[in-house]
Amino acid sequence: MIDLIEKARKTHSLEKDEITALLRDSGSTADLLAAADEVRSLFVGPAVHLRALIEFSNYCRNNCCYCGIRRDNRQAQRYRLSVKDIIAHVDAAARAGYKTIVLQSGEDVYFTVDRLTRIIRAIKERDMAVTLSIGEKTYEEYKAYKQAGADRYLLRIETTDKALYHRLDPGMSWDNRLRCLTDLKRLGYETGSGSMVGLPGQSIDSIADDILFFKQMDIDMAGIGPFIPHAQTPLADARGRELTLSLKTMALTRLLLPDINIPATTAMEALDPNGRIIALQSGANVVMPNITAEEYRKKYELYPGKAGEGRAFVSERGRIESKITAIGRTIGQEKGFRGEFLKGK
Ligand code: SAM
Repeated sequence: MIDLIEKARKTHSLEKDEITALLRDSGSTADLLAAADEVRSLFVGPAVHLRALIEFSNYCRNNCCYCGIRRDNRQAQRYRLSVKDIIAHVDAAARAGYKTIVLQSGEDVYFTVDRLTRIIRAIKERDMAVTLSIGEKTYEEYKAYKQAGADRYLLRIETTDKALYHRLDPGMSWDNRLRCLTDLKRLGYETGSGSMVGLPGQSIDSIADDILFFKQMDIDMAGIGPFIPHAQTPLADARGRELTLSLKTMALTRLLLPDINIPATTAMEALDPNGRIIALQSGANVVMPNITAEEYRKKYELYPGKAGEGRAFVSERGRIESKITAIGRTIGQEKGFRGEFLKGK
C-alpha cells in the first residue's frame, strides 16, 4: 500500500484496481491522508479559502431519495429568501471579509434567470466571486448566469453508477447531469462536482469510478461527503455515515488532482465535531461557513445534524479562523481560484 501511495504522490495517477485496493485497506489510512495533506501543501499551499454559503431556498422540484428537502417531504417547512434579503446576506458577508459567495438552493423555479442575474450582478458590484449551486439548468440559463458574472458552479454527479443514480434520483437522468457539467466547462465556469460516499448499494468499485471521473473531467473543485440518512426520506433506514471512507475518497481525489479546490464538507462535520479540521488535514483547502440567517438554516435540513453546524454565523467567522490558524494554516486573502497558489510561486 505504501508503494501505491508513493506512486499517487509522485505521479498523480492510479489504476482503478490500485484505487480500490487503497479504499479497501484499513491499515494504510493514516498514510493516505497524510500524503494528501502533503500534496495539498505543495500544490495549493497553507491558505484555507472561506466561502460564505447562503441557502436561499429549500423549494425543490426534484425528489432525490436521500435528500431531506425532496419534493415529497411534506414535513419540510419551505422557505425562500427575497432578492432583497439575499443581497442583505451578501452585504453582511462582505463586511465580515468574505471574498466569495456560494448561492445554494433546491431546484426552485421561482428563481428565474431575471431574478438570479440581478442577484449575481449585485454580488459582482461588491467585487466578490460568485459560486452557484442551484442544480440542472439549460445551456442558455447557464450562459445567462455566466454573462451576469458568475464565476463557479457546483453540481455533484452524486455517483457515477448510473443504475444507482436512477434508483436514487427518480425522474432524473444521469446523462443530463453529465450534459450540465460539460456545458458548464464549455462556458468557462470553474466547475465543481463531487459525490456522496456510503450510499446504499454503492460499491467500492463505483467509488473508484467516481474518483477517476473527477480526474477524467479535470474538474476544478470536488465536494465529497458522507451520505447521512434523513428520517423523512425513503432511505431513512439506510446505514450511511461513512466518515473514514469519505475522507479516503477525498484524499485520493487530492492525490490525483493536486491543484484543485476541495472543501471540507459540512456532512463530515455533522459526523464528527472536528470533521472539517480533520478534512483540512487530509487534503481539503476550502471551508464554506453557512451564513444563512438561523430561522432559515434550520429548515435547510438535507440530513440530520446539518443545522448544528449553525455555529458559523457571520459574526463568528473569528471562531473558525482561530481553529484554522491553530492547525498552522492561514486564511486565504484572495478569491481562491484554481491554480492561484502555483501562479504566485
Ligand atoms: N439542488 C442543487 C443540486 O442538486 O446540485 C444543490 C442543492 S443539493 C441539496 C446539495 C447536495 O446535498 C447534493 O448534491 C447532495 O450531494 C447533498 N445531499 C443531499 N442529501 C444528502 C444526505 N442525506 N447526506 C449527505 N449529503 C446530501
